Amino acid sequence: MSPYNAPLHDIAFALRHIAGLDELAKIPAWSEIGLDHTEDLLAEAGRLATEVIAPTNRMGDQTGSMLDDNGDVVTPEGFRQAYQQLIGGGWTAVSADPEHGGAGFPLVVDVAIQEMVTSANMAFSLCPMLSQSAIGTLSAHGSHEQKHRWLPSLISGTWTGTMLLTEPQAGSDVGALTTRAEPQADGTYRLWGQKIFITWGEHDMADNIVHCVLARTPDAPIGTRGISLFIVPKLLVDDSGALGERNAIRCIGLEHKVGIHASPTCVMELDGAVGELVGEEHEGMPQMFTMMNKARLLVGLEGLAMAERAYQQAVAFAAERRQGRRPDTEPGAQAPINQHPDVRRMLLDMRARSEAMRGLLYLNAAAADQAARHPDPIHRQQARHRAELLTPVSKAWCTDQGVEVASMGIQVHGGMGFVEETGAAQHWRDSRIAPIYEGTNGIQAIDLVARKLPMDNGAPLAALLEEMTGLDKNLDQAVGAIAEATRWLEEHPGDDALAGATPFLQMLGLTVGGWIMARAWGTAGGLEATEPEHADFWRAKQLSSRFYLDQILPTAPALLPAVTSGASALGKLSS
Ligand SMILES: Cc1cc2nc3c(=O)[nH]c(=O)nc-3n(C[C@H](O)[C@H](O)[C@H](O)COP(=O)(O)OP(=O)(O)OC[C@H]3O[C@@H](n4cnc5c(N)ncnc54)[C@H](O)[C@@H]3O)c2cc1C
Repeated sequence: MSPYNAPLHDIAFALRHIAGLDELAKIPAWSEIGLDHTEDLLAEAGRLATEVIAPTNRMGDQTGSMLDDNGDVVTPEGFRQAYQQLIGGGWTAVSADPEHGGAGFPLVVDVAIQEMVTSANMAFSLCPMLSQSAIGTLSAHGSHEQKHRWLPSLISGTWTGTMLLTEPQAGSDVGALTTRAEPQADGTYRLWGQKIFITWGEHDMADNIVHCVLARTPDAPIGTRGISLFIVPKLLVDDSGALGERNAIRCIGLEHKVGIHASPTCVMELDGAVGELVGEEHEGMPQMFTMMNKARLLVGLEGLAMAERAYQQAVAFAAERRQGRRPDTEPGAQAPINQHPDVRRMLLDMRARSEAMRGLLYLNAAAADQAARHPDPIHRQQARHRAELLTPVSKAWCTDQGVEVASMGIQVHGGMGFVEETGAAQHWRDSRIAPIYEGTNGIQAIDLVARKLPMDNGAPLAALLEEMTGLDKNLDQAVGAIAEATRWLEEHPGDDALAGATPFLQMLGLTVGGWIMARAWGTAGGLEATEPEHADFWRAKQLSSRFYLDQILPTAPALLPAVTSGASALGKLSS
């Protein structure tokens, strides 16, 4: 496997010219934090990702995490040390609340850092990523006392967090969960049940694990309305914050998976485990929704991270591998495959899609930042709608693209891509989970069509379409097709609209990607003249953005018939 190089210039470009970091720097909450030094911070994070975390990736894939006879999970060689360096540098605290030890940076800066950590080793990155979900949940819904007890150690990374939602009969249908929580005389609860597919549910990298568990109290209403959220620590914590005895929650099995082998995916058994209620009983689902946007954005980021890693590896391979001849090849010699037009096409396609994804994800994160901290309430509301509209697209479109780009990375390698030795296949295997978890991509498409399009009578989508108009003729065509598809979806609610939801999401993803690349094309053209020292970078950016606009974006309007075919095109739906 070729080494990973943090794409710092591309990241800085997306932060400044697509996501609008300079606008965030004007917001009072961040005007003093030193966002003008963001590039130094990114360079430091890039070093950690490249030199410390990336070297653990191959070994992690080959050995995986293992469950020993005592029920402890042993992580692959090098993981504990890499994790210590991650938390030692404060990298788990970047965007967390300073009141609990966080550095208070905007989410978009954190997202840029997490992109590099994830590219370096996706399986490893899931551990701090799940902690972020726990931090987000407790920050939004924990009591004052709970925040003080749990947040500082989660933010510093000495403890990690998990999310325990899924049960065998309750996957997409979370409301079907049956784990039960019984109130105790001392105000705590005891929980019984089994959770499956729990990412980093047990491991040896941190002193404690804080599980966020969804369960049902006695006589709770059926479905999602009867779900409550509990904190269930691996080790009990006393009032002084000291770690106590082991709680009755344990890992009883690890899944054998297609990819992310080093990320322990645990079957967790709760056998009368002590838990603390978060908020009130039956508020679990709305509480989950507040952290879902961020979690979905971070899973979307996995699509980009794997695409970038696969692209870098494909570029390195294509420069080395020699096959066939070009008109100027010396007699008897073979040309590097990167000189063949079809291989160049694949490399440029991978690069263009990765850049479009990065723009979309950073833009989405910056909208969430504006929604959280902009001083003007109307601006906050508009930014919140923009972030909510883009989130299912970021999650589903980017994770689908991640799989596609990683697959193309294998194609560039030819037969050696199908052989594990090169490592090209690991990126594809690792990327394959992201369209499935954190709400499958099918569920994201339903969310987009059924909940996000009707928001505020369609105003957020209308504002986005207007902003995307007038920059490029192919983009205008795609925007027009989206407007037509949206009208059709509004006129055909129910099964007809649901049948077209996934192609509609793909169409919107491709088009927002086109908007980003049209902006990149314009910016890069202007900066080539003013920054001649980076002329190669600006020329490469113009090449990839033009390629996207001319060769990838036109597939968006072509999806219109798929969006508008209706449910009857799928045959009989009920048995
Ligand atoms: C490696 C891994 C890590 C995971 N980590 C965690 C974790 O940390 N915590 C946690 O709680 N869970 C976790 N999960 C669980 C994950 O979130 C679920 O697998 C996911 O939500 C899908 O549920 P399911 O597997 O039951 O699939 P199902 O819900 O059975 O879905 C099967 C198919 O049917 C479709 N489908 C289902 N319902 C509908 C519907 N109403 N309309 C249209 N289509 C539908 C789906 O889109 C999918 O294509 C993890 C899973 C894996 C594999």
